[in-house]
Amino acid sequence: MFSDVRIRWQQKGPMAISTRDIQHNFVVEINVAVFEYLTQIFRQIPISGTSSVTFQQSLDWIILHEIQHAELGHFSILDGVPTFSLISSSRKSQVQEPDLPRELWDKVERCLELQADHEALEEMLGNMDNVDWAELRVTIASIASVIVLIENIDRDNPNPSETHPKAATRIFQLLGHVGDMWSIGTSLHADDLPNAERIQEFAKEVILPAYYDAIEMAKSTKATNLIHDLSDPEIFFADIAHAKLGHWDQLQTAGAKEWAELKDANGQILPLVYKFQAENNTSI
Ligand SMILES: [Zn+2]
Repeated sequence: MFSDVRIRWQQKGPMAISTRDIQHNFVVEINVAVFEYLTQIFRQIPISGTSSVTFQQSLDWIILHEIQHAELGHFSILDGVPTFSLISSSRKSQVQEPDLPRELWDKVERCLELQADHEALEEMLGNMDNVDWAELRVTIASIASVIVLIENIDRDNPNPSETHPKAATRIFQLLGHVGDMWSIGTSLHADDLPNAERIQEFAKEVILPAYYDAIEMAKSTKATNLIHDLSDPEIFFADIAHAKLGHWDQLQTAGAKEWAELKDANGQILPLVYKFQAENNTSI
């Protein structure tokens, strides 16, 4: 879609930011401090010997997420918002009356962040039969590391973010997506679906360890809000099951609750995404 996507490294300024200028060039600026944060996180997590892989994948994730903002038409939906930032610290909403009902305005930017995450997830994770499970776990940890990084930078923000969802909400979407990977790319014929044993194996070797990796990263960086919001595995995964079934009143964790709160707003924003993609020949 872009004739020119540039990555710029900088010493100071925003942690990661995407900008689409009037020539439709796309620029991702990444603060070099990202390296320090990620090194700090990877030093602590229990996936040994893979830090260089995760490091590269973490950067891939940041860039992929930012590119999704442009591909999904977010710059045009939020007309007048020139940039998307990876972090939310001290950022007030810049929404200027988007073409959406008034009651959605304070949810729009958080929805767009989750949309960018979701598309980047699909691109990076694939489906469970096409990837090596050990590698997949490292990829998931790389993505989670960026989410933890954002949480740590935002920690000192005294006001709740108007522009970014909670880290717990992004982890909830991440692990909910991983939990669905067995069905991605398969047809709905019962014969094609993996058997229950294989799905169990996937949960044991990938999904649950990925949850504990996120907890370890949150602990090692003292991200106390995130540790609290991730709750314990029974409650966390029960929330994923409740959300799939639409049992909204049974949700217990902060991440699942925010995800549910944004779900309807997101459904109303998606037609603008589809319209943009139809007009610009891009597609999800
Ligand atoms: Zn974003």
